[in-house]
Amino acid sequence: MSEDCIFCKIVNGQIPCDKIYEDENCLAFLDIFPKTKGHTLVITKKHIKDVFEATEDDYAKLFTSVNKVCKLLKDKIPCDGIHLIQNNGKAAGPEVLHTHIHLMPRFKDDGKNIFPDKESFKYNDNEKEELLKKLNE
Ligand code: AMP
Repeated sequence: MSEDCIFCKIVNGQIPCDKIYEDENCLAFLDIFPKTKGHTLVITKKHIKDVFEATEDDYAKLFTSVNKVCKLLKDKIPCDGIHLIQNNGKAAGPEVLHTHIHLMPRFKDDGKNIFPDKESFKYNDNEKEELLKKLNE
């Protein structure tokens, strides 16, 4: 629990939310500024800043809940696909520093562009080989 964290306040019931799922470890509610119909956040009940602070067990539990909520959204909306997104670290631009996964339903021919930057990244010279070596050490 972190005193000034908005998601901790939601977990504690101090701030309302549009809840769609809850279990021992996680809570899921509709995003207040939805990017698509049914845009949902699955959050940890525990105040964990991000993926770098979390343990494997935290993520095993979180993604067990994410899996259930994805199926709920797919069946009940219904939707044709779902993006799972999490912003970790300053460079990724998170707004709320409390672990949450965005579930963004997609619909056939919805014309949405969730990833507007279509430009692919280009490695220099041996950059990819060096990275691959480092990652496998
Ligand atoms: P992020 O940039 O990944 O940290 O995303 C935070 C998300 O939380 C944004 O999509 C916000 O719209 C959403 N959000 C912030 N406050 C609330 C709230 N009180 N209830 C529901 N969603 C919220």
